[in-house]
Amino acid sequence: MQIYENKKFDVIVVGSGPGGATVAKELSKIGKRVLILEKGTNQPITGTVSQTIGMAMVPGKSLLFTEQLLALVRGITAGGSSIFYYATAIDPPFEMLESYGVNIRNEVAEVKMELPIAVLKDSLIGPAAMKIMESAKDLGYKWEKLPKIVYQGNCRKACDKCTMGCPYHAKWTAREFIDLACSANATLVLKADVKKVLVEKNNAVGVLFSINGKEYHSFSDVTVLSAGGIGTPVILRSSGIKDAGQGFFFDPLIIVNGFIEDAAGGREFPMATGINFQEDGIMMTDLMWPSWVYWLFTMEVFRFDCLFPYKRRLSIMIKIRDQLGGRITGKGCVRKQLSAIDKNKLLNGYERARKILGNAGAKNIFKTWYTATHPGGTAKLGDIVDSNLQTKINHLYVCDCSVIPEPWGLPPTLTLLSLGKRLATHIAERW
Ligand SMILES: Cc1cc2nc3c(=O)[nH]c(=O)nc-3n(C[C@H](O)[C@H](O)[C@H](O)COP(=O)(O)OP(=O)(O)OC[C@H]3O[C@@H](n4cnc5c(N)ncnc54)[C@H](O)[C@@H]3O)c2cc1C
Repeated sequence: MQIYENKKFDVIVVGSGPGGATVAKELSKIGKRVLILEKGTNQPITGTVSQTIGMAMVPGKSLLFTEQLLALVRGITAGGSSIFYYATAIDPPFEMLESYGVNIRNEVAEVKMELPIAVLKDSLIGPAAMKIMESAKDLGYKWEKLPKIVYQGNCRKACDKCTMGCPYHAKWTAREFIDLACSANATLVLKADVKKVLVEKNNAVGVLFSINGKEYHSFSDVTVLSAGGIGTPVILRSSGIKDAGQGFFFDPLIIVNGFIEDAAGGREFPMATGINFQEDGIMMTDLMWPSWVYWLFTMEVFRFDCLFPYKRRLSIMIKIRDQLGGRITGKGCVRKQLSAIDKNKLLNGYERARKILGNAGAKNIFKTWYTATHPGGTAKLGDIVDSNLQTKINHLYVCDCSVIPEPWGLPPTLTLLSLGKRLATHIAERW
């Protein structure tokens, strides 16, 4: 008999990305018995290509495709997508969240005290990012260094491992909070694929999950779903909340590349600098991928001529706030077409990037096909969850990107950490 089998906990947290890890850490810290069920494993991060593919690029699992072949990437591993994120910390749109009864100003301030959030020191910003920033400023843009959640003392120069996890413990990831939760007595169960929430008389009483094909039940007073923008609506639907997963966003992006004469773009911290055109719903940053990721995206658009001068490239990411639309199917497939408005926004960003790259002396400019890394809005505030993040099933909460109620277009991690703190306080006060 496993320690979690048919056992009762105070709280079950499903998924260990930033949302779930924060709730688990905060509640274990005050003595709640917490069970964390995570679909992935917690192999130590090696920063290798093979490990990245295994955790974030398995088609149908962590790499999902829309009908337009937009590739949606998510991390299926302890720590979720934070293992592969670029650690950019942008403030939430406070007023928008407040219009749904969610005030997280204090929690954001607490997270900023707790985590190492700051712009990178100059020595950690690569030559391509610097060149792009100089060129953008020269054209009059307020292009700036972006705040990062990074222990800069551990960070290495000329390193591109962020995209492949960070083996040097420089980038903060949700695994840190999972470790803190476990040292405060939380139980972490890996390879646990949660299928549904067990409901009795409209009260959530536990979950059904499988490990290597064998099914288990665990019970709790409170259940928190933090399986991410794709994972959570699938579980909600199989638990009776059928309208979850409709009309979502994923913040689509393209990368615009150009080539200069000198070697500029080698290995460097991605997304070190940028600009957010909040009104237009367009965010632009430098983004130097590791060479193998660059090659994959370059081959996808048949620009074989651009494969080899990769060390001379300057790359700019255009990420947009897309309109809500499409749906997540019951099996976790992604159905969504980019609207004409979304495509125009991407083109608009592309034109701005062309000018910045051209001004930096880059030639042979081309753009990649669409990709996306922020699925959310699949269990929206004011629709699937109330202002306490509770669903219509009592004691069943959601805390991840799913709850964001409107088109987004921003790095969401700081928001999720703050929502996690707020939810933990609510649960602690209520129970
Ligand atoms: C390449 C990349 C770069 C990014 N850069 C940034 C950035 O710079 N700044 C920023 O703020 N954000 C960034 N993001 C986005 C950020 O990482 C995510 O928005 C964030 O991790 C979402 O947190 P979450 O808690 O909603 O879910 P996730 O991080 O997706 O976590 C969900 C967890 O649930 C688990 N799970 C899923 N289904 C189940 C199930 N059925 N049973 C049990 N467990 C399950 C998953 O394995 C995963 O661990 C980036 C993402 C990527 C991929």
